Amino acid sequence: MTYIITSPLYYVNDKPHLGSTYTTIACDTLARFKRLEGINVIFITGVDEHGQKIQNTAEARNISPKTHCDQIAQTYRNLWSALDISNDRFVRTTDQFHYDLVCQFFERCKSNGDIYMGRQKGWYCVGCEEYKEYPESELNPKCDIHKKELEWRDEENLFFRLSNYQEQIEELISQANYIQPASRRNEIINFVRTGLKDFSISRVSVSWGLSVPGYQNHTFYVWFDALLGYLTGLISGDSSTNIENVSIHGWPNCLHIIGKDILRFHSIYWPAMLISGGFKPPSKIFGHGFLTREGIKMGKTLGNILDPIELLNSYGNDSVRWYLLREFKFGQDGDFQKQRFLDIVNNDLANTIGNLLNRTTSMSRKWFNNSTPYKTSQEYKENKLYSSSLASIAQVRKAIELLEFNTAAENILLLATTANIYLNENKPWSLIKIDQSRDKVAYDIYIVLESTRIVATLLYPILPDLSKRILGQLNLESEIREWSDYLVWGRLGFDQALPNPEPVFEKIEDKEFL
Ligand SMILES: [Zn+2]
Repeated sequence: MTYIITSPLYYVNDKPHLGSTYTTIACDTLARFKRLEGINVIFITGVDEHGQKIQNTAEARNISPKTHCDQIAQTYRNLWSALDISNDRFVRTTDQFHYDLVCQFFERCKSNGDIYMGRQKGWYCVGCEEYKEYPESELNPKCDIHKKELEWRDEENLFFRLSNYQEQIEELISQANYIQPASRRNEIINFVRTGLKDFSISRVSVSWGLSVPGYQNHTFYVWFDALLGYLTGLISGDSSTNIENVSIHGWPNCLHIIGKDILRFHSIYWPAMLISGGFKPPSKIFGHGFLTREGIKMGKTLGNILDPIELLNSYGNDSVRWYLLREFKFGQDGDFQKQRFLDIVNNDLANTIGNLLNRTTSMSRKWFNNSTPYKTSQEYKENKLYSSSLASIAQVRKAIELLEFNTAAENILLLATTANIYLNENKPWSLIKIDQSRDKVAYDIYIVLESTRIVATLLYPILPDLSKRILGQLNLESEIREWSDYLVWGRLGFDQALPNPEPVFEKIEDKEFL
């Protein structure tokens, strides 16, 4: 069965920020993990390109909205490629393929009686692309999020009968696994309890949008358009647009990983739309937390935005991926701290993992003819590194399955630390000076090298680059497809040539922008 993982389709109002980078790295790690477990994965990401805000931004830049979108979409593609993101699809909502799908979907909802013409009056935030709940008499209300004055709008819009789905949505959100983490469920349950209201799905004042077929001057509301991008991504490998085919490609076995701010759209509006269109709701929605920087919310006015592109260019993808996944509990808010970033990356990747590999391969080469040690008669299954390895393998698999990336990272690190301690306790550098201890040294070095190989294998979904470099230093094939064979103890050969040791991870240093 196909497992679908999606990041949000990111709004191209601006270049990528650390939050979208975080979401995408998490999606990527899960996608890589599932593939390693032998599951067929479709990992969808992309960009959401319509709406008033983009039109305004492009105008301010004196370029067409399409040119603006092309540029920002390319920035996303470049960043994901530099971060080694393994997405199968990259959806652009300006593609004709997507438009065809939106039209097909709209017709389905319409024939189901869920679309009607109505009048929408209210205070509107362009930033949120959303009507706010202020009475008409309110004087100059502002958006709580954007702190900008709202616009009064009174226009004819097409509406979607969300109110038809009250019971079905209540039923859906009461399911224990549907909204994750569980702490975010109550907020949604409380909102739905107040009664779902129909929402407008078209605009007459926004020209930068997809035209609603049969309704002149109406463009689709950007959320109606963008949410459907997930289905577009799913069938975009097909030769033509046929929305019926989403189930052939695995729908609804889908996990949406999103930021907590867009949970309402995904857990209420989206499933109702899907049911109306004749499809099942997605199986799970995970809303993760937000990142602050040194305890402060990042924003343009504060000038404290940490640019993920600059971070990546300065520190490389291993550092960025490791810090974000290892430092924060996925689901909760996190705080990016410069000193923690430098310390964690240097301690974990350079001192613990890098040093373990470097010193062990060096000793092995020196004492065993530039190779791994020879086989001894001592049974390795009695060794604590053997049991530690098995425990780490089990813990990492369990943790990533639950999206507990920090727990997975900690368990990999624990194995590397245990192996370092083993070396320090057994002191092969002293034993090698005693003739009759050569077998014991061969045994110890092998068992540490094999633990290091398991560390590298377990790192593969989190830090694919570092993992490959370590496996390369052990003279092993560095592309892992399915990993069940690789997680069996004892795959490292005896008397096998080892290349010249090279540091797999250089320590990182403080830089001015950080
Ligand atoms: Zn707003």
